[in-house]
Amino acid sequence: MTLLEIEGLRTQFPTDRGVVHAVDGVDLTVESGEIVGLVGESGSGKSVLAQSVLGIVDAPGQIAGGDVRLDGESLLEKGEAELRELRGGRVSMVFQDPMNSLNPTLTVGEQIAETVRLHQDVDESVSLPAEVKRKILGAARDGEAWRRAIEMLEAVQIPEPAARARDYPHEFSGGMRQRAMIAMALACEPDLLIADEPTTALDVTIQAQILDELRDLKDAFDTSVLFITHDLAVVAELCDRVAVMYAGEIVERGPADELFADPRHPYTQGLIASTPRLDDPEADVRPIEGYVPDLIDIPYACHFAPRCPESTRECFERDPDFRPVGGDGHEAACLRRGPGGDRP
Ligand code: SF4
Repeated sequence: MTLLEIEGLRTQFPTDRGVVHAVDGVDLTVESGEIVGLVGESGSGKSVLAQSVLGIVDAPGQIAGGDVRLDGESLLEKGEAELRELRGGRVSMVFQDPMNSLNPTLTVGEQIAETVRLHQDVDESVSLPAEVKRKILGAARDGEAWRRAIEMLEAVQIPEPAARARDYPHEFSGGMRQRAMIAMALACEPDLLIADEPTTALDVTIQAQILDELRDLKDAFDTSVLFITHDLAVVAELCDRVAVMYAGEIVERGPADELFADPRHPYTQGLIASTPRLDDPEADVRPIEGYVPDLIDIPYACHFAPRCPESTRECFERDPDFRPVGGDGHEAACLRRGPGGDRP
C-alpha cells in the first residue's frame, strides 16, 4: 500500500537574481514498510524535498505546485496546527546534526518523554503542564511517558538506559546522540520516518551499527523510511528502492539492487563511477566533469545535458520523460534510454 505520494512537487525560493527551482516537478512514492533512499550531491534539492513533505520549508521558500499525500490525504491542504500535530506523530524526522535538534537544557529522557506526551494519550501520574513537571516534579519520572523514553533508549542500544536517560545531550557521544534522536523519532511509532543524512557526521563503524539498528527498528515499529543521503554505499546497503536526484529533479528510480548493479541514467552512472569502492580500493574513480547548475531558470531541457558525455542537441531542447529501463519499476529520465532511445 502506498503511504507517501509526492506528485509533481515544485518548491521555489525567490531571490534577487531570480527564482531558485530547488525541487522541480518531483514524483516519488514510499510504500508501507519499505525504505526508500533519495540520493544526490549536495545542492540537488533532496533536503528541500524533505522539508517540503514536512511543511518546514524555510521562508521565503514556498511550494509552488504539485501535491504531497499521506495515506491519500493531501498534506499541502493542512494548516500549520495540523502539520505540527503530524510531525513527531505520524511522521517523524531525524537530521544530520543531533546537537541542533536536541535541547541542551533538558535531559535526553525528558525530551523523548515530552515527544510521547505531545503525541500520545499517556497516563501520567500527575496532570500538570510538562514545563511545570520538569521544574517542580523532576519530569514526572515515574510516568508512562518516562518509562516509554527508557524503553526507546534501550531499543536503540543505549547502555544502562534508565541511568543515561537522566543525562544531558552534551554527556552523550555523537553516536549516542544520533541514537537518541532516532529513539525520539520512533517513540510515537510513526508511519513514516524521514532521515536526512542521519549518519553522515559519524565514523564508519558507528554509522554501520546505527544503520543496522535502523533496519531492525523499522521492522519492529512497522515504520516506512525515506532516507536522504549523498552516500551511495549507505543506500545500497539499507534501502529497498532508490531515487536519484539531480538539479531539482529525479533522474532515475528503481529497486536498489537492480539500480546499483545496472545504473542506466548517465548521471547515476557518473555518480557511481565517481565514488571510491570500499570492496575495491584500486578501482578507477572518475569524477563527473563540470558543476551542478545554478537552479535559477536552467535554460536547457535535460538538467544534466552540459555535463553528460552522451548529450545531443535534442537533450538541450526536449524534456526527458521517465522510461522503463529494467524490471520492477526501474525507470530513467533520459532521451537515449529505454523505448525510443538509441542506447542500451
Ligand atoms: S537526456 Fe541526453 S543529456 Fe540528458 S542524460 Fe540523457 S543523454 Fe544525457
